[in-house]
Amino acid sequence: MYLAFPVRPERLRKALEGTAALGMVGVNLTVPHKVAATEFMHELAPAAQALGAVNTVRVDENGLYGDNTDAVGFLLAAREDGVVLRDARAVVYGAGGAARAVVYALLAEHADVTVVNRTIAHAETLLNELASVMPRACAAKVAAPGSSEERDALRSSDLLVNATSLGMSPNVDTSPVNRPDLLRAGMTVMDLVYRPRRTRLLVEAGERGCRCINGVSMLVHQGAESFRIWFGIEPNTFVMRNAVESALDAEESHNATSNDAVAGSMAV
Ligand code: NAP
Repeated sequence: MYLAFPVRPERLRKALEGTAALGMVGVNLTVPHKVAATEFMHELAPAAQALGAVNTVRVDENGLYGDNTDAVGFLLAAREDGVVLRDARAVVYGAGGAARAVVYALLAEHADVTVVNRTIAHAETLLNELASVMPRACAAKVAAPGSSEERDALRSSDLLVNATSLGMSPNVDTSPVNRPDLLRAGMTVMDLVYRPRRTRLLVEAGERGCRCINGVSMLVHQGAESFRIWFGIEPNTFVMRNAVESALDAEESHNATSNDAVAGSMAV
């Protein structure tokens, strides 16, 4: 059984302590708990330590074991779609938790990385903090949106990853890339956003012949990795993906119906 519990930040410690008493195998954590939870773990996996964030907790006999499956989820999603990350030239948009996992995974694959973010200081902090566990991060670059550095990085890149929330519902008309003319065939565009699955970025990239991958693959693979951590067995990712796609189909058709209803009442 997999249940959702909204937890206020000041109750995180008590909620985590309660997992053992409730006989839970483990929990997933999401924003805003991923960073704060590291303090309450008895042991951190290397990925959680490097990323300074926990998204998967396993309840062990001795306490709570914290891991982070975002980076491996990204790697497996790329692999499933045949994207070669080894030595790739990559532009990553964003400097939050998801971007950190993506940059970590890309650097582990010796990719040449440029991080583009609205707040440059966040991109610099991301790379400085990763550099303490991954010296290769020192060679990664940062660029401001709209800068010549961003343009040059896009012109020479074979992979673009959106790890910002731009394009995510309800802001579906937004995109991290203000110059879609820089998108071209031969480039792979991975959008971590999965609500909606066809983001504005992916539509614009598709029109220019890019290979497009939405956030569903990563969502499935980071969840599958959590399953492995909890149960020690290989989950059926085909079944998991179908469940996610069906849930998103239902959500999108519900949203479309609601939008029709609003348009109808406005017309009256
Ligand atoms: P986060 O830590 O809150 O980071 C958000 C990022 O988006 C920051 O870089 C922020 O820039 C940027 N941003 C937000 N609003 C912006 C705006 N109006 N203009 C320009 N930049 C803006 O979030 P996160 O956890 O990294 O998640 C980011 C996205 O990835 C979300 O859409 C999430 O759903 C998705 N995600 C998907 C998966 C998956 O499995 N598919 C996994 C994790 C996350 P600043 O630094 O300037 O604030």
